Amino acid sequence: MLLDKTIEELSTGLKQKLFSIEELVQECYENIQKYNPKLNAFITIINKKEALRNAREKDKNISRATSKLYGIPFLLKDAYITKGIKTTAASFVLKNYIPQYNATVYQKLLDAGAILLGKMNMDAWGHGGSSENTDFGPVRNPWDLTRVAGGSSGGPAAAISSRMAVFAIGEDTGGSIRNPAAWCNITGLKVTYGRVSRYGTIAYASSFDTVGPMAKSVGDCAQVLEVIAGKDMYDATSSSKNVPRYSELIDSPVENLILGIPKEFFQEGLNTEIKNCILNSTKIFEKSKIKIKHISMPMFDYGLPVYYLIGPSETSSNLARYDGIRYGQKRKEFTSETVRRIMIGTYALSSGYYDAYYKKAQKARTLFIKEYDKALSECDVLLMPVTPTPPTKIGELMTDPLQNLLADVYTVSQNPVGVPSLAIPCGFTKNGLPIGMQLVGSMFSEDLLLRVGHIYQKATDWHKKYPKLEG
Ligand code: GLN
Repeated sequence: MLLDKTIEELSTGLKQKLFSIEELVQECYENIQKYNPKLNAFITIINKKEALRNAREKDKNISRATSKLYGIPFLLKDAYITKGIKTTAASFVLKNYIPQYNATVYQKLLDAGAILLGKMNMDAWGHGGSSENTDFGPVRNPWDLTRVAGGSSGGPAAAISSRMAVFAIGEDTGGSIRNPAAWCNITGLKVTYGRVSRYGTIAYASSFDTVGPMAKSVGDCAQVLEVIAGKDMYDATSSSKNVPRYSELIDSPVENLILGIPKEFFQEGLNTEIKNCILNSTKIFEKSKIKIKHISMPMFDYGLPVYYLIGPSETSSNLARYDGIRYGQKRKEFTSETVRRIMIGTYALSSGYYDAYYKKAQKARTLFIKEYDKALSECDVLLMPVTPTPPTKIGELMTDPLQNLLADVYTVSQNPVGVPSLAIPCGFTKNGLPIGMQLVGSMFSEDLLLRVGHIYQKATDWHKKYPKLEG
């Protein structure tokens, strides 16, 4: 199967004409046709004939290709604006929206010669952690169809896990790349705030939103990141910091590295199988001469309240553009989860409550920044769980909004701070459900996270396992 290969292997094989882009795209569509009816990962599938025509055109020019992503099929979470292609953010509010321009991340991938195959299902507006809060039906987990794929980038995760394309672009505001990556057994990178342009992203919480790769391995994420990262004149918050050649740096040695384990992230509420599995993985790091240090991050408990005050405040402002009064949209088309967030945000920002909620949350956010600074001055990288439990049953989180929020407890504090985090597969529960862990580093330390993650993936093969969906 071509889809088992890494981007590096595919790119080399295509150049040597061992196989063609057309064959690769054909293989993707075979898997999409077989598996998507079971998973519901797509909102829009790009016309197969069109994609194959595009592939044949590209095959003719393969000798002139300059990017490793040339001819590589990929997917976009439906939160990215694509000219002439329906873009919904998984909400019926936008069910007929055909954009007039391209998101920067999409344009960069097109310029590199990558081939878009679909716009993916997600929690509407990024609101959720299970891809059930969507107007297009829930995404199912390829490892157990009675369970959720995670969210909000559940469609991309389920599709990459079941080999429907080579890589995908997700969006992470408080865990949306990492959580579904962990639950579907793929690798996902939440980048430093500003590392990748947000231009053309349907905004959830603008000061938390990040655009990042989801793929089968750390190596593939590195390949994608070096294409999509960088300054963009259309996004004033994008960083002009130099973009390293992540894929070339990935094998460079790490010396005298300290991996921190913050105790608060491994206490009550964390499933024991997940806890043991992650703590066990430290042996692999120790073998590579990485030192383990136990630390404390006492702000931990404030992560959820800070996130769930500032996030909804920003979303209430961002979603006001779809206001029924000004633009004739029907407010009733927002799901109850989104309405809840708009109401919490509007309340937290209203006069009389602003100081008590929004302002206080922003102050606590500063304390979080200091806490991460401190932890990352004592250690180079932090090791944490991604989710407190294995993937939940379809419907389980929808009936319990509080449980739904608690599911984000390990992934919501990095976004208000801005630091990057890499989620990688590290084992399975005894029932065969995937387990992920995250490596968190200081601002713009993606190269280091990718190197450390790559060390782990060279020593293990969890990330190579894929679900059996035949029959
Ligand atoms: N689950 C979190 C939320 O519902 C994170 C979502 C995201 O990162 N887009 O807010």
